[in-house]
Amino acid sequence: MPIESYNPYTNRVLRRFTAFSWAKTERILGQAHRAAATWPATTFAHRAGVLRRAAALLRERQDELARLMALEMGKPIADGRAEALKCATCCDYYAEHAEEFLSDELIKTDAGRSFISYQPIGVVLAVMPWNFPFWQVVRFAAPALMAGNVGLLKHASNVPQCALALEKIFHDAGLPPACFRTLLIGSDLVEKLIADDRVMAVTLTGSEGAGAAVAATAGQHIKKTVLELGGSDPFIVLADADVALAAKTAAQSRMINSGQSCIAAKRFIVEKKVIKEFISHLKTHLLALRPGDPLDEATQYGPMARPDLADELSEQVNDSVAQGAKVELYGGQAKPGTALFRPMILSNIKPGQRAYAEELFGPVALVLEAKNADDAVRLANDSRFGLGAAVWTGDPKKGEAMARQIESGAVFVNGLVKSMSEMPFGGVKKSGYGRELSYLGIREFVNQKSIWIG
Ligand code: NAP
Repeated sequence: MPIESYNPYTNRVLRRFTAFSWAKTERILGQAHRAAATWPATTFAHRAGVLRRAAALLRERQDELARLMALEMGKPIADGRAEALKCATCCDYYAEHAEEFLSDELIKTDAGRSFISYQPIGVVLAVMPWNFPFWQVVRFAAPALMAGNVGLLKHASNVPQCALALEKIFHDAGLPPACFRTLLIGSDLVEKLIADDRVMAVTLTGSEGAGAAVAATAGQHIKKTVLELGGSDPFIVLADADVALAAKTAAQSRMINSGQSCIAAKRFIVEKKVIKEFISHLKTHLLALRPGDPLDEATQYGPMARPDLADELSEQVNDSVAQGAKVELYGGQAKPGTALFRPMILSNIKPGQRAYAEELFGPVALVLEAKNADDAVRLANDSRFGLGAAVWTGDPKKGEAMARQIESGAVFVNGLVKSMSEMPFGGVKKSGYGRELSYLGIREFVNQKSIWIG
C-alpha cells in the first residue's frame, strides 16, 4: 500500500509520501538506539515536564489535529477534538504517576533487603492502526517515554500526516528528537526492524493477521510483544434491564468512530422477551444519526476510513444475509468503491454465518437472541475474540456475576465500554495479550529486575 493521505469523503488524494528506504530507517534506528542510552538518565521530573508540555500542545492544537483526522480517515471533527483531549489526559496521567508505578517494590525474602526494580529496556517499535490515529499511539508512547524507553512509530499507511503531527508535538514539547520518531515505511520493513538487535520489543494494535505476523517474527528473535487486536464485543441486554437506555447506549457504542472501534459493541445478545423492543429503539437511534462531511460540526458519523474497508464490510453483510441473517435496518454503501456506509441491523445471527464468527469493523449491529442469562453468557463466549463486553440488567449483583464469567479483557455493567488511563486495557483469546494503560501498561516494557542483597 502506498503511503498517502486520502480523503475518504471526497475520494481525493491529499498528499503522497515517499516511503523511507531501509538505509534511512536504519539511520533513524541508530539514533534511537543511542538516545536509549541517555534518556533513562534523565529524572522522572524532567520526563514528566516533557509529557506535560506535550499534553498542553495536544490541547492547544486540538482543532488542527481534529482536522487532520477528519481529512485522512473521516473522523467527525468534534470526535477528533475529543480524541486529542483524551491523549492530553493520558500524557498528564503518566507524568503524574509513572514514578510511583515504577518505584522499587520491596519483597520479603531471606535477603537483608530484596526488591523489584523496574528498568527501561530501550527501543520499542510501535505498529499502529488508523482508527484512533493519536490515541492508539499516545497510550503506548506516554508510559514508554516516562519509563525511559525510546519509541519508533510505524503508523498505518493512510494516516502519515497524523503520524508526523504527533512526532512534532513530542519534539516541540522538548523531547530529544531521537526519542520518538515516525517512520514512514510500509509493513514490508517491519520484519527487518524487529530482527535488528537494537529493537528490544514490539507493540502492535491492529488486525489478527498483522498481530500474528509481527508476533511470529518477534518470537523468532526472542522479543517481547504486546498485541491489541480485533474484537466482536458482546452487549448483553437482560429482560430486567432499562431497555430504552440500553438501546440508546448500544447505538452510541456501535457507532463509535463510524463503527470502526475495536471495543465498539458488535454483537447485541438480547433476552427473547425484550428483543423486539430493543431492536425498535436501536433502529430509532441509528436512524436519528446525521451522516456527512467529517469537517462539518453537525456530522455525527462520517465515511469509513477507506472505500475498500466499506467494500469488505458489504461482502460480509451480503454473505451473512445469504447464510440466513435477517435485515432489520437497511443501510450500507450507496455503491461499491465508496466509503460512506449507513448503519444496518441484522438479526437471526446463527453459527455458520460470517457475521457470527467474524469481526464486522463498521456500522453493522448484529442481534442475537438469548433464552436467559446463562444462554447470553454462552453466546458471548462463543467467539474467537475477547476484548470488551457489556451487561445490561436491573440487578447489578447478577451483572457482576456474569462479568466474572465472560471471557474478555473488560466488562462494563450498565455502561458504555471505553478505555481510560486508570484501568488496564487489552484482550484475551484472539483479541491479543498484554495490557496497555494503568500501572500494568507501564510495566509491560520494562525489565522487572529482582535485586537481592544479603
Ligand atoms: P491492520 O491492517 O492490521 O493494520 C494495523 C497496522 O499494522 C498498520 O500499521 C499496518 O500497516 C500494519 N500491518 C499490517 N499488516 C502487517 C504485517 N503483516 N506486518 C507488519 N505490520 C503490518 O489493521 P487496521 O485495518 O488498521 O485496523 C483494524 C483492526 O485493528 C481491527 O481488527 C480492530 O479491531 C483492530 N484494533 C484493535 C485495537 C485494540 O486496542 N485491541 C484498537 C484498534 C483497532 P499498513 O497500514 O502499512 O498496512
